[in-house]
This record gives sequence, structure tokens and C-alpha cells, in this order.
Amino acid sequence: MTDAQIIVLATPVFFALIGLEYWIGVRRGRDTYRLNDAVSSIALGMLSQVVGVLTKLFTLGIYTWVFERAALMRLDAGAWWVWLTGLLLYDFLYYWHHRLGHTTALLWAAHAVHHQSEDYNLSTALRQTGSGWLVGWIFYLPMAILGFPPLVFAVVALVDLLYQFWVHTQQVGRLGWFDRWFCSPSNHRVHHAVNDPYLDRNYGGILVIWDRMFGSFQEELEREPCVYGTRDALASWDPWTANVQVYAKLLRKARRTPRWRDKLRLWWEPAHWEPGVGARIAPGYDPRARPLFDPPVPSSHRIAAAALFVALLGGVALFLWNAHRLGPMAQLGVLAGLLAGQALTARLLTPSPSSSTRGHP
Ligand SMILES: [Zn+2]
Ligand SMILES: [Zn+2]
Repeated sequence: MTDAQIIVLATPVFFALIGLEYWIGVRRGRDTYRLNDAVSSIALGMLSQVVGVLTKLFTLGIYTWVFERAALMRLDAGAWWVWLTGLLLYDFLYYWHHRLGHTTALLWAAHAVHHQSEDYNLSTALRQTGSGWLVGWIFYLPMAILGFPPLVFAVVALVDLLYQFWVHTQQVGRLGWFDRWFCSPSNHRVHHAVNDPYLDRNYGGILVIWDRMFGSFQEELEREPCVYGTRDALASWDPWTANVQVYAKLLRKARRTPRWRDKLRLWWEPAHWEPGVGARIAPGYDPRARPLFDPPVPSSHRIAAAALFVALLGGVALFLWNAHRLGPMAQLGVLAGLLAGQALTARLLTPSPSSSTRGHP
């Protein structure tokens, strides 16, 4: 069974839990869903999975190549401790991958996608980048060199990702000791928040002890309710825009930066770094003062967008199930069709640029 097929099998579970979370939210009078945002987040998950199929030969290929040529030993995939230590090591490397994903502009350009939702619910978990394959593989090569077989690497990577699904919810409160050992709804809410005390905290995937070891842990505070999103707001429902926007901004910044040294340096500095100024974050940011992207559209547009979304979801599931039997041209054709369908969905949910924002509720 392929990774993509496992995701297809997990999809009904994702949707059942999203439905349950929505129902609980409505009953409690604390509904955290908006159709436009959820459709956009899940569309980004679909795009990420389709791109994942197209780039698997590249990412897993490099890992396998390094494993076959440079592994110091060959660990036995039949031994339970190889899986357990593999998961632990993966989670440790994921911590650094994720931390640099926030603190270097090039990696942030890929990872920002996961953070651009201004809501926080289980659909946010599915909101994954489509360009993580470009650089992400570098972080996991120590596993190949230490002799973890490609199968162990692929499975523990999937386990680490699937674990993080349930923590994207506001319906589960603080969980005491659990919040200090594992990535949890409370400490991951902090990770997604733009409030000053929460910026660049809690990178852990399964374990959050890495954050406590390396000084990036922050508890959720009663007096500081989380406000979600990115400080540099996306303001679009289109998955293509979400994936390329930060890269485009960095390219523009590189073009207007006069010195060659700075042109190269800005990719490895934090996204807000400016030549001659550094990476200082201006104090006094008020997260609740910023507008929420939520353009009103007629209900006919919402229904059409939802219908198109369901059709695309069915198409993507069919593709992911059969992708290993298709050639690269057919796979690229599906990607192009998906991008076009998603652009149309986003268009239906966005009326005119003039009426596109309103205040926080
Ligand atoms: Zn993050
Ligand atoms: Zn997250």
C-alpha cells in the first residue's frame, strides 16, 4: 500500500472528526469554522498530496540513494526498537526542520502555508505546503546515514504527520502534564498564534520536550487568548497563491536589495530581516486590531464552490489511489486540472477586492 492510499483511507476519518468538532462547536456556541477558510485549507491538503506523489521519486529517492551509499550500518526493519528509535530521531529532526521553517525566510516560504489560516480547527491540520519537498529532505539525511531503512523513514514520517491532526482544535482545553511532554491542542494553539509572547514557540511534532530542552517552549496563557494566522496576512483562498506568495515577496525583496551579499543573505535570515536593520520585531503589535479576511459572497456562490470542492475531492481521492499506475505526464495533467478547479473555487468565494475584509468578531 502506498502513502497516498493510506491518506485516502484516512480521509473519511478526517472528515468524521471535522464533522464532530463542528457539531461540538455549534452546541457549545463556539463554532470555529468558516466554509471559505475550511475549503481553502482542505484544498491545500489535496494539492500537497498530489504534489507529494509527483515529487516522491525525488524526496524518497535521495534518502534511498544516501542510505545505499553512505549508511554506517544497516538497521533491521524487523526489530521493534528500530521503529521506536526511528520515530524518536525523526521527531527530533522534525523539530529542527520546523524551527528553521520559522526562522529562515526560504524555509518559511514553504511552511507559511500551514499557518495562513486565520481560523484554528481540524481543517487547519490538513493545510500543508506544496513546496516542502524542495529543501525539507536535507533535515532527515542523518537517519539514512545512521542506517534507518527507507521504509522505516517513510512510515515514521507519516506517523509524525498523522499524529499532529488532532491537536488542531480549540475544543480541547489544557491537559496538564500532557501539555508539557507532548504536542497538544493547547501548546500547538500557541504555535499558530501571532500574539507577541507566542511567536516562534512550540515546534515539536509528537514530543514537545524538544522545545523545553532547546528553549522554545511557551505555555498557553489565560490572559492572552490566541489570535491565529500570520502577521503578513495571505488574504486569498487560492491554493496556488498561498504556495507562491511568500517566495514572490522574497524575490521582490532580493531584487530591490542593492548589495549582492544581502541579496543572498536574506534567504537564510528570518523573513522580516532587512539589510542594515536586522531581524528586530517592532514592539506593540495588536493582534486583535488586524482585519479578518472574510469576503461576503451570495449563497449561490457558496453552494457552487462547495459542489466544486466535493467534485475535486473525489477526483483527488481517485487519483491518489491509482497514482502509482500513472505516468508523469498524466500526473502533471491532474495537477494542472486541480489547480484550475481550485482557482475557480477560490474565485467563487471572493467577490470584488473592495469588500474583502471585516473586523474580528
Ligand atoms: Zn509551524
Ligand atoms: Zn499546525
